[in-house]
Amino acid sequence: MTGLQNSQCPLCGGREAGLFSRDKHHCYQLCPHCDLVYVPTAERPDPLAEKSSYDRHDKNTADGDYGKVLSRLTGPLLARLAPGSVGLDFGSGPGPLLAGQMREAGMRVRTFDVFYDPDASVWYQSYDFITCSDVLEHLHSPGRELDRLFSVLKPGGWLGIMTQRYDHDTGPAHASAHVTQVCFFSDASLHWLARRQQAELMLLEDDVALLQKSGN
Ligand SMILES: [Zn+2]
Repeated sequence: MTGLQNSQCPLCGGREAGLFSRDKHHCYQLCPHCDLVYVPTAERPDPLAEKSSYDRHDKNTADGDYGKVLSRLTGPLLARLAPGSVGLDFGSGPGPLLAGQMREAGMRVRTFDVFYDPDASVWYQSYDFITCSDVLEHLHSPGRELDRLFSVLKPGGWLGIMTQRYDHDTGPAHASAHVTQVCFFSDASLHWLARRQQAELMLLEDDVALLQKSGN
């Protein structure tokens, strides 16, 4: 297959990835260094196609069920945060439901979304916590984006992640209906990320994880 040779892993930058699997939409590559499974660049959707897909699948509608899903991330975070903590909801979408939950609990939350809320001023302050709900799997440059998130996270601050982790038996089976999902983390990928960022990792559920940046 063309286009797969020497493709660079978008998380660790390694170039030794091999074919992991394929479905009707994509082929998926597995990086042996950070365990990320990813769709190679040539097969990813362009930004216009991405935006129209997000417009159709608005994750942030005032949906009670989705609010409950989010609480599996916001609950554990709130248990670890002091009242009035300052946070960033990264990838907040068109109608930020998660930020609303955190604000109701007394947190101060800013939002950033490359399509819906691209306010670059969020990168000029630091945060006690950052949330990424249903975001990591859509990032085309997760390594660079995660470096940026950790750079604005205070020492001792929390990164809360909701993304369905794959295992090596089933692969990214959940991805086939969502062509905008291009990166799939495993437990090992998050352990790699924690080592890179000198953070402590807590795997809470198969789609919920917290990382605490070192320091205080
Ligand atoms: Zn990698």
